[in-house]
Amino acid sequence: MTDQTNALRRLPSVGKLLATADVKQLVERYGSRRVVAEIRAEIEHHRQRLRSAVAPEEPPTVPQFTQWLRQRLRLREESTVLRPVINATGILLHTGLGRAPLATQAVEAIAEIARGYASVELDLAAGERGQRMRSVEDLLCELCGAEAALVVNNNAAATMLALAALAKDGEVVVSRGELIEIGGQFRLPEIMAASGAVLREVGTTNKTRLSDYAKAIGDRTAALLLVHPSNYAVVGFAQQVPLADLVALGRRCELPVIHDIGSGALVDFAQFGFRDEPLASRSLDQGADVVLFSGDKLLGGPQCGVILGRRGLVDSLAQHPMARAMRVDKLTLAGLAATLKLYRDPEGAMMNIPLLRLLNTPVDELRGRANAIALATQSVREVQHVEVVDDQSFLGGGSVPAQQQATVCVAITPRTIGLDRFARALRTSDPAIVGRIRQDRLLLDLRTVFPEQDAQVVEAVRGLEP
Ligand SMILES: *Cc1c(COP(=O)(O)O)cnc(C)c1O
Repeated sequence: MTDQTNALRRLPSVGKLLATADVKQLVERYGSRRVVAEIRAEIEHHRQRLRSAVAPEEPPTVPQFTQWLRQRLRLREESTVLRPVINATGILLHTGLGRAPLATQAVEAIAEIARGYASVELDLAAGERGQRMRSVEDLLCELCGAEAALVVNNNAAATMLALAALAKDGEVVVSRGELIEIGGQFRLPEIMAASGAVLREVGTTNKTRLSDYAKAIGDRTAALLLVHPSNYAVVGFAQQVPLADLVALGRRCELPVIHDIGSGALVDFAQFGFRDEPLASRSLDQGADVVLFSGDKLLGGPQCGVILGRRGLVDSLAQHPMARAMRVDKLTLAGLAATLKLYRDPEGAMMNIPLLRLLNTPVDELRGRANAIALATQSVREVQHVEVVDDQSFLGGGSVPAQQQATVCVAITPRTIGLDRFARALRTSDPAIVGRIRQDRLLLDLRTVFPEQDAQVVEAVRGLEP
């Protein structure tokens, strides 16, 4: 027998490992299925290593093996379980970080409903089966001035449902300048294709005129679609058709106008310096028949897609079989209703909705906090240099200049460990801290950090001492 075969035979077996006290503990924590799978993977790793070794090598001892197993399980757990993150990226609606943080009122409403049973489809006064979303829909109508409302899983679902219900097998006219990719594989043309509607592209990337829409309308036309491209802009020699003009054309041709406004602002974001963010109520006022937006963007609520519009059209969406496949759960309904209630008092909304509070923080306040963090971290050995710098925050991942806002950052140059490892160390601290790398520095943007998290940021940087 060769040394290699001998070494392979002396690898600990699954059964032997499972019998040890240490591994039994791991089984209690992670479950036997997970542990056995990782033991097998670890054994396979050593088999490969021993087989391909040039010189004979020793197989790991049981304690060594257990140590590696423990690490494997921990890493696996960290990469699969959601962990809280301090968002120092400056991107307010970061899809990778879960978009809008919820208001305390929404969190409490969700917790209360999650803990027990709830009147999801029961009208308590009448003691009869009730409508699933009555109260949320009433709130949406009240706040936005809509005739009817419907809530689905997200805005992609809302778009798909609207097209499937109103335009299946028919044509939907849309400008080439609006056939966008939102990110995360949301490509408008693909969603449209999946809904069964046929895309009728008009105009060019930079210019589309009302006459382009008018010329494309024929027997098969089922709807006109206007999309607000929130993550990019065509500037310079560009022209888009205003909603009101498209509505007038729709009326003349008896075609519904669907307006996907994307971010779904319920208050005017011009007050934060963001121009061109369409307001749901304004879109309805201008005559859009169906308005679509996300609940977890500018509204600051849970992930969902909001559909507002004319009663008859919204009803036909609600009755479409696909609506059942896209329906939201009780937790979303509870969180959305609680968030919407905050908008009844616009000043209260500014204070209580985290996204609005972050946007509303004066730059001087950010600067004061940045100075304090810089002062508290400048003596950390791993910090070569820390400086407070003015910069721009972004509304979303692909924000255009119209969606940027002045901010203040703490800019750190690490001393020995290199920028990537420095950033990684903060990302893997507890809670995780994610900043943005700019040239040779890590920027911690305070626009997206809550004041109560400042101390944790300082502590994490101090924790980098070797
Ligand atoms: C974000 C966005 C979507 C997708 O919304 P989800 O809620 O992420 O599904 C669709 N259309 C526009 C214009 C958007 O900005």
